Amino acid sequence: MKPFSAISLSPEMQENLKKLEYRSMTPIQEISIPLIIKKKDILALAKTGSGKTAAFGIGLLENLDVKHFRVQNLILCPTRELADQVSKEMRRIARFRHNIKIVTITGGIPHFKQEHSLSHQAHIVVGTPGRVHKLLRRGSLVLDELQSVVLDEADRMLDMGFIDEIHDIFDFVPEKTQTLCFSATFPDEIKELSREFQENPKEIEVESRGDDIAIKQIFYRAGWKEKSTAVGKILQKFQPESVIIFCNTKDACRRISRDLQDSGLSCLALHGDLEQKERTEVLTRFSNGSVRILIATDVAARGLDIKELGAVINYDMPFETENYIHRIGRTGRAGLEGQAFSLMSTKEQFRLDLINDFLKSGFMVEELPEDESQDCSYSQASMVTLSINGGRKNKISPGDLLGALTADGTVPGKAIGKIDRQDFITFVAVESASADRAQQLLEKGQIKGRQFKVRRHN
Ligand code: ADP
Ligand code: MG
Repeated sequence: MKPFSAISLSPEMQENLKKLEYRSMTPIQEISIPLIIKKKDILALAKTGSGKTAAFGIGLLENLDVKHFRVQNLILCPTRELADQVSKEMRRIARFRHNIKIVTITGGIPHFKQEHSLSHQAHIVVGTPGRVHKLLRRGSLVLDELQSVVLDEADRMLDMGFIDEIHDIFDFVPEKTQTLCFSATFPDEIKELSREFQENPKEIEVESRGDDIAIKQIFYRAGWKEKSTAVGKILQKFQPESVIIFCNTKDACRRISRDLQDSGLSCLALHGDLEQKERTEVLTRFSNGSVRILIATDVAARGLDIKELGAVINYDMPFETENYIHRIGRTGRAGLEGQAFSLMSTKEQFRLDLINDFLKSGFMVEELPEDESQDCSYSQASMVTLSINGGRKNKISPGDLLGALTADGTVPGKAIGKIDRQDFITFVAVESASADRAQQLLEKGQIKGRQFKVRRHN
């Protein structure tokens, strides 16, 4: 892989990429960034984890006219979480220059807050199709000076039924706007969408992951009633640092989390019925390492970028082979070997044939590991999440929290983990041994001259 210095980027951008420890380009980045900078339309076929966000992010930010305070880029994503994640990554990349304003527009949050942010102008809008369309109709989002539009995970947006919204949104997009379309698969609907909205797009296809990343795949025989105990056995034997357990429905999600909790494992469930606030909390606690087990449906987990996920367990087999590939692609990132376990009832075993056909592999169903001890020894996370009811909009910075926590030396700096700041809440992960003290410090101390309510999430 080539270093970023192999392509022509501004020195400030190069410097910032170094700070982010982005040294070499992923294949999609190497091919697409120069084309994006040249204002070409792009139709790219690339899987989760291929580095798409930085691919379009770097390209778009290099072309951004910071002094021109109008919406120049619109990035459409299928879900709120993906939009949040793209915004986050865009903000990191945008740090190379001052005053770049990025606004996120998604459902689940009152729209007047987003309209308020927009009324102060923005350079980049990241959002989900439904809400973006709504604000366009209301006239609070104006795209008259749009330069580029990105369809991120376009196939997923179509799967989720956003086709009409996308059409409606394009009614507001000026004729000559650069259009970048990223998709993990290439069904006819995507080709159609491309024909409609793109001009002479450069087609890009990069090697699918899974060819280059090692994922250990194991298929266990397990009847419906055995599956929860099977999960315990797998965790005990393989001790993954963190794990996502996939199931096909939100009911299953709830049921499994109850089963696991009953057997003493602490876990969180992520599914479509959670309110936005709850979803953010779940994702934060899982990704900052204070919960090791996440139970999720495909839609809820699609595209989430959780670093160094130890393993994936298919509690239910996915209906589509494509989904199987997506699920297991969550593990084994960044060169680490990943593990994917699948639990198969007799009725599900034909799915393995389909997977073997697709991957040209010869996996077989194995028996579950023997119970070595009665109870499942898979320890709790070593971190705990605390939060204060203040965030970006209260002018709270991660440094403020860090300062309050480390001022008197009773909580060592290394006991403090990820600090995640949202608009009105900030989460901080703290080693369990220091959690009580950290909570006291946050409760008693003044942050930005005022006191905040502190919550411990467990
Ligand atoms: P995709 O959207 O294709 O699924 P992302 O854009 O979310 O992938 O990138 C996956 C992860 O890889 C992110 O954590 C991102 O920060 C990281 N990443 C992207 N490009 C690079 C790079 N060139 N070097 C190192 N890490 C990178
Ligand atoms: Mg992505």
